Amino acid sequence: MALDSEGDTSLLLGTTDVPPVREENTAGRSPFLLTCDHYGRLIPRVLGDLGVPAGELTRHIAWDIGIAGVAEALSDHLDAHLIAQRYSRLVIDCNRPPGAASSIPLISEATIIPGNEGLERDAAEARRHGIFDPYHRRIREVIEQRLRKGVPTVLVSLHSFTPVYAGVIRPWHIGTLYHRDTRLPPLLLKLLRAESDLVVGDNEPYAVSDETDYTIPIHGEARGLMNSGIEIRQDLIVDQSGQMQWADRLARVFAEIETALRAQRLLSA
Ligand SMILES: [Zn+2]
Repeated sequence: MALDSEGDTSLLLGTTDVPPVREENTAGRSPFLLTCDHYGRLIPRVLGDLGVPAGELTRHIAWDIGIAGVAEALSDHLDAHLIAQRYSRLVIDCNRPPGAASSIPLISEATIIPGNEGLERDAAEARRHGIFDPYHRRIREVIEQRLRKGVPTVLVSLHSFTPVYAGVIRPWHIGTLYHRDTRLPPLLLKLLRAESDLVVGDNEPYAVSDETDYTIPIHGEARGLMNSGIEIRQDLIVDQSGQMQWADRLARVFAEIETALRAQRLLSA
């Protein structure tokens, strides 16, 4: 299997393309394992610009604007391991089940992605093997390693959302996104709602489902890990000062969560 996927990877990523997985703080001591599916907006050289105008490739359809800076600073503040993915969701969406229509989207919001039209099976597989698989393989390896060593592990998937989608204004500053975990999300919601200046979405603007998500169902729920996603509104984290403010705030919130989980004996060691 490993040989096959390495063979296919070479079809997509050339010597000048960077690897898809970016990690920070691999020896981080925090129980929180941070993932960032939509961290980057790179496109493998061989795919050109996917036929998409340059102005579209910096919009939210290509990546989660602002989340990279928040994720890195939060990883630093919490001393938490961060696993992030550098390529655009327009190439392959690392938070969609492979094969789903939105995995390699033909259209995103109102933008057609010509480079994704009429994709041969091999070409779609190459995207999966080159980008999606190494990212999720790494998350799986890290979780397995941690569980083997008895390291407490809580999965937190970091995202950002556009303030206006298809003409509709979103009022929330931040939202939680979750499905089956009943331990972390209520605590996270409670602490975020205690921040008096925030409008907090409970599974808004998105909720997690097996059809529309991958990271939380596969790495969190299927493993029985406590987990939640977080979505921050993009206009709040568009610049570095916003990113730092949100990383500071979330670091404070997650420190409180860690204390509460330890008090409830949901985290050992
Ligand atoms: Zn996202």
